[in-house]
Amino acid sequence: MVDHSRRYQDFTYVYPVISRRSRGLSIGINLNPDKRCNFDCVYCEVDRKVPGKATHVDLVQAADELRWLSNHALSGGLALEPKFSEVPELSRHIRDFAFSGDGEPTMVPNFDECVEMAARVRIELGLTETQIVLITDAAGLDKVSVRRGLEVMDRNEGEVWAKLDAGTEGYFREINRGFVSFGRILRNLSLTARQRPIVIQSLFLKLHGQSMPTSELMAYCQRLVEIQASGGRIKEVHAYTIARPTPEVWATRLTLTELEGIADVIRQATGLKVLTFD
Ligand code: SF4
Repeated sequence: MVDHSRRYQDFTYVYPVISRRSRGLSIGINLNPDKRCNFDCVYCEVDRKVPGKATHVDLVQAADELRWLSNHALSGGLALEPKFSEVPELSRHIRDFAFSGDGEPTMVPNFDECVEMAARVRIELGLTETQIVLITDAAGLDKVSVRRGLEVMDRNEGEVWAKLDAGTEGYFREINRGFVSFGRILRNLSLTARQRPIVIQSLFLKLHGQSMPTSELMAYCQRLVEIQASGGRIKEVHAYTIARPTPEVWATRLTLTELEGIADVIRQATGLKVLTFD
């Protein structure tokens, strides 16, 4: 029974979104209402001037919100809401529970418990076709609790969508402005992809009107080849660009033609399946 007096807009951890990359309804689980991230991407849309809501994940509350919102979607309640009424058929089928949100999910100290919570709700509601997706900047994929969480994901239709926006340390510093080394990101991608196939998510953009230089794009392709040469499996690459204006006004979107051109280069250089989302 769904309590219709509640509103997901008031929730702390869980939110619904129709996602092209998920091909339908994705229920996001925001493990970083405090907005913590170990990257500072030039295209980040999270407004860190406004303080975050909570500093830790209350797993009981998060599970309760996830259960309620899932039931709200399954019972057709979400499809009646103005934001979702244009796609009512999509709003009743939950494609995934996605660890995503206002920061980097792997920064929480108990990532494994967060995955176990999502897996429990998934099984409890009989959502056997719903994936558990981790959207990550890859910086924390070597942490013990994260690796334990990934093993729980492996048993629950899990999939890792890991960010890679650069081919060299210099461009990585320019775009992602992370607090970790590019070498650690690459090692983590290989480590994770050796355990299960991963999806690489790459955002391509213009900096001060300039697209990624050809040499950088070739270096990026080479990094993908190296991950595979190390025994890693890459299921596919999601290439996308900036969707909305960013706080850094000199970081701007590519046209679909420009993005498709980059995707073609990646396909030819790596042999990988590349999907584009503009
Ligand atoms: S990794 Fe994501 S949340 Fe973190 S700064 Fe980059 S875009 Fe923002």
